[in-house]
Amino acid sequence: HAKASGRGRAEHFSEALAAQIAERATLESDLREAIDRDEFTLVFQPQVAAEDGRIVAAEALLRWRHPRDGLRFPGSFLERAEETGLIVEIGEWVVQTVAETIARWGRMGVEQRLAVNVSPRELDHATFFRRLREAMRAAAAPAHLLELELSETLAMHCSSEVIEAIAQLRADGATIAIDDFGTGYSNLARLRSLPIDRVKLDRSLIEHIAVDADARTIAHAVIGLIHGLGCEAVGEGIESHAQAEILRIIGCDVIQGYAIAAPMDEDAFISWSKGEVRWASAG
Ligand code: C2E
Ligand code: MG
Ligand code: MG
Ligand code: MG
Repeated sequence: HAKASGRGRAEHFSEALAAQIAERATLESDLREAIDRDEFTLVFQPQVAAEDGRIVAAEALLRWRHPRDGLRFPGSFLERAEETGLIVEIGEWVVQTVAETIARWGRMGVEQRLAVNVSPRELDHATFFRRLREAMRAAAAPAHLLELELSETLAMHCSSEVIEAIAQLRADGATIAIDDFGTGYSNLARLRSLPIDRVKLDRSLIEHIAVDADARTIAHAVIGLIHGLGCEAVGEGIESHAQAEILRIIGCDVIQGYAIAAPMDEDAFISWSKGEVRWASAG
C-alpha cells in the first residue's frame, strides 16, 4: 500500500513538474512574440517634491497586454525574460519607447524627466549604452530628460566599463538613480564612488514609518546617509498621507506611490502632470 501511494505521489509530482515546464515554455514563446505583436506598453507614475507636491519626474513601468491573460505586471514575466535573455530585446523596446515618449512630450510642451528601469542582464550587454544613445539621438530627446534606475544589487556589481559608460551618460546630463535601496547589502565606500544623483528608498524601509518609531528612526538615518553622499532621497511605495508627511518632516526630497498617484497610461499622466487632476482632491 505504501508503495502504491509513493508511486501516486511521484506521478503527482511529475505531473506538476510537467505542467510547470509547459507553463514556462509557453511564457517564453509568448514573450518572444510579444514585441512583434506590439503587446508591451508603458505606464507612468509621477514623483513629486515632498515639500510642495510639485512634479519632478515620472517613472516608466512596463506592462504586457497579454492576449489571453489580460494586463500582466513585470512580477509575472520579468524573471523569465531575464533567464532567457529576452530582457535584452524587451529593454531595447523600452529604451526606444522612452526616448520617443520624452520627445513627444517635449513637442506637447510637457518637459518631463522620465526614469527607466534597467535589469542586470541588459546592462551586461555591451551594446546597451550605444543603443540608448542612438535611440535618444534618433528621437531628438535631450539627455537631461532621461533618468536611469539601477537596482542596488546591480550597482554594487557592475564592471568598471559599465561605470565609465554611466558616468559618460551622466556627464551628458542624464540623472542616475539607485533603485530599491535597502533591499541589498551596500558597500558604502563603493556607493560613494558611483556616479549617482539620487537614491530610492525601497518600500520596505517606508512601510512601517507611520506606525513604528524604530522604522522612522531608520528611514531618517538612511536619508541622512543619502544626503551625506550628496544625493537626493526618493521615497517609493508611499501609500498614505501619514507616510508622505513623515517623509517630508525627516527630510526626504521626493516621494512616489499610490497615495500620490498610481502608474497611469500616457493620456492620464499628461492630464495629471498639467494639474488637471490634483492628488489632494483625489483623496
Ligand atoms: P520598481 O522599479 O521598484 O518600481 C516600483 C514598483 O512599485 C512598481 O511595480 C510600481 O507599480 C509599484 N508601486 C508604485 N507605488 C506603489 C505603492 O504605493 N505601493 C505598492 N505596493 N507598490 C507601488 P511594477 O510596475 O509591478 O514593477 C515592478 C518592478 O519591475 C519594478 O520595480 C522594476 O524593478 C521592474 N520593471 C518595471 N518596468 C521595467 C522595465 O521597463 N524594465 C526593467 N528592466 N524592469 C522594469
Ligand atoms: Mg524603479
Ligand atoms: Mg524600486
Ligand atoms: Mg523593484
